[in-house]
Amino acid sequence: MSDAELILRSTRVITPEGSRPAAVAVAGGRITAVLPYDTPVPAGARLEDFGDHVLLPGLVDTHVHVNDPGRTHWEGFWTATRAAAAGGITTLVDMPLNSLPPTTTVDHLRIKREVAADKAHIDVGFWGGALPDNVKDLRPLHESGVFGFKAFLSPSGVDEFPHLDRDRLARSLTEIAGFDGLLIVHAEDPRHLDAAPQQGGPRYADFLASRPRHAEDTAVAELVAQAKRLHARVHVLHLSSSDALPLIAAAKADGVRITVETCPHYLTLTAEEVPDGASEFKCCPPIRESANQDLLWQALADGTIDCVVTDHSPSTADLKTDDFATAWGGISGLQLSLAAVWTQARRRGHGLEDVVRWMSTRTAALVGLSRKGAIEAGRDADFAVLAPDETFTVDPASLQHRNHVTAYAGKTLYGVVKSTWLRGERIHADGEFTEPKGRLLTRTP
Ligand SMILES: [Zn+2]
Repeated sequence: MSDAELILRSTRVITPEGSRPAAVAVAGGRITAVLPYDTPVPAGARLEDFGDHVLLPGLVDTHVHVNDPGRTHWEGFWTATRAAAAGGITTLVDMPLNSLPPTTTVDHLRIKREVAADKAHIDVGFWGGALPDNVKDLRPLHESGVFGFKAFLSPSGVDEFPHLDRDRLARSLTEIAGFDGLLIVHAEDPRHLDAAPQQGGPRYADFLASRPRHAEDTAVAELVAQAKRLHARVHVLHLSSSDALPLIAAAKADGVRITVETCPHYLTLTAEEVPDGASEFKCCPPIRESANQDLLWQALADGTIDCVVTDHSPSTADLKTDDFATAWGGISGLQLSLAAVWTQARRRGHGLEDVVRWMSTRTAALVGLSRKGAIEAGRDADFAVLAPDETFTVDPASLQHRNHVTAYAGKTLYGVVKSTWLRGERIHADGEFTEPKGRLLTRTP
């Protein structure tokens, strides 16, 4: 411990073995040891004592639409990474669409990295995109360090990112399996969406009926079948339909290489509470009924669902019209994801250890970031300091998001992030931020 530069002490440190009083030694941006709470502080080391506030590993959010460059008026690296830091997130992986250009070639990746370089308050990685016509770009993108590839099985909402039909899914997945990459999928079947009643208008019930559960279930089944046939690694993005859970559980039991995420809005908001015309609640697949939500929680508890990510996908306020058919689909919640999930988790008898597993350890593992996602020797010294029993009421104007539109407005949530630490440096405390210290991450081979 003689080489420690910094000791972070709390009566509640969330380690892989559980929550306990501990002193975390840090040197060179890494955790060097997790020691008993009362270990004497070595000469020359600085002590930060957080008392009863919880020290947890910084969250790793693998599903964020930063939209920069090109739609920077929707969000941007500066605002998104500050919002993330304020919410206890220390690593995010940026989705390949809604920026212009989308991250679908090595050249586009280079442009994205240049834009992000001096604006990242936290560490940032990138997903690539799998389009109908870019199969030749997938391997070069993989070798350039993207963490995997996103594909849509139904229209994405932006013209520059077309979806894959069944044959093109097979073609892309074959290519990706060839280098043992990861395909992450927006799973809704367009045939079922086309067949559903498309009412339009302000009624949430009509919107919900337009994106039925079986559109998700069918697409997940197709993905499972292809992953099994090609022995490929696939990940289901933002699962909302609980009806898909039995087939996912069966696929996992059968050895199919599939993982699944869901999002704070599916776990904490319900269709029953969405006011008509309130398109800040619009996302695809949609927020469903409370009985559906109970089953998602059960699936998180039993491991059928692996992890929780925000799918932060903001737009400007003018695109959030009161017509659910045409309003922008995407929920803004990056800064609030930890508090939202924790508020509901504690009500349902889960501990912060569970939240950390879902939002940090498993997401880091999904993208192979072996230095992130846990408080143990050898990992990066990335932390959030949380007052878990303090509450706050969400005031959209006080959020760091570029656009102050959020489905969580007015909610009272448990869990106040007191400070956020990246590689041993405090990057955020009580609404104040340092200059950007984030790094751009690449997949480790
Ligand atoms: Zn998304």
